[in-house]
Amino acid sequence: MNRVRRRKIRRRRGIIAAIAAVALLAAFVVPYCAEPGVPVLMYHCVSEEPRNGDANLYVRPEQLEEEFEYLRANGFTTLLAEEYENAYNVHKPVILTFDDGYEDCYTQLFPLLRKYSLKATIFMVSDYIGRDGYLSAAQIREMSQSGLVSVQSHTAHHIDLTGLSPDDLNAELRDSCAAIAKASGKNVTAIAYPGGYFNEEVLRETKRYFTYGYAIDTNKYSKGNHYEISRGGVFRNTTLEAYRRAIETYSESRIVRSWLKIYYKIFD
Ligand SMILES: [Zn+2]
Repeated sequence: MNRVRRRKIRRRRGIIAAIAAVALLAAFVVPYCAEPGVPVLMYHCVSEEPRNGDANLYVRPEQLEEEFEYLRANGFTTLLAEEYENAYNVHKPVILTFDDGYEDCYTQLFPLLRKYSLKATIFMVSDYIGRDGYLSAAQIREMSQSGLVSVQSHTAHHIDLTGLSPDDLNAELRDSCAAIAKASGKNVTAIAYPGGYFNEEVLRETKRYFTYGYAIDTNKYSKGNHYEISRGGVFRNTTLEAYRRAIETYSESRIVRSWLKIYYKIFD
């Protein structure tokens, strides 16, 4: 009798230990492994011929059109950078971002966004507004008003933020917000760190001005941290197959994303 009871108690302890182990594993391991399931792509220029600098930053217009056709044909929903949180509520979300604010965002990208009814975000360096080869204030205003384009911050002077004094860091963020909002007529709530570089000071200041901070290939995600959002680059040598793979790597099912949303609510 005693032996039977002892065996029962041992089995019960075993079950409790197993449940505790699974709960612990879920609580600590899942946040580090789970991706939010939102692919964010980073482009720069759209041009048949590379102009200067790294030729690989220039995606060809036909290449971009082929990628847009792929997104349309496969039922993706493009979101603006400031709609990141909404990714949990839409089918097959993807965020398209274009850095620096080159004029070809108006001449090449914008007509394609209209043609395919897709949305994109331009991370503009505010000091470049109106400069030769970059977007003018009027182009920024027109695109912003279309609802297809959001123009957000890529700082004022495209300087590595991690090496700045507190005052200069503050000015880069504050001035870019003001200048871009003036041009677009809309609030600026997202930033892409130049070169993708950030540190604790940059994150602290960024949180004063923005809701979202976009980096490059961080492979990090934790609920409540919208300041280290990972982006994957699309380049001139990116094949459609590589493009498809890049999106699929991040694209978990809606069920998984919904589950993660509940999970983070419980464990936050
Ligand atoms: Zn840049």
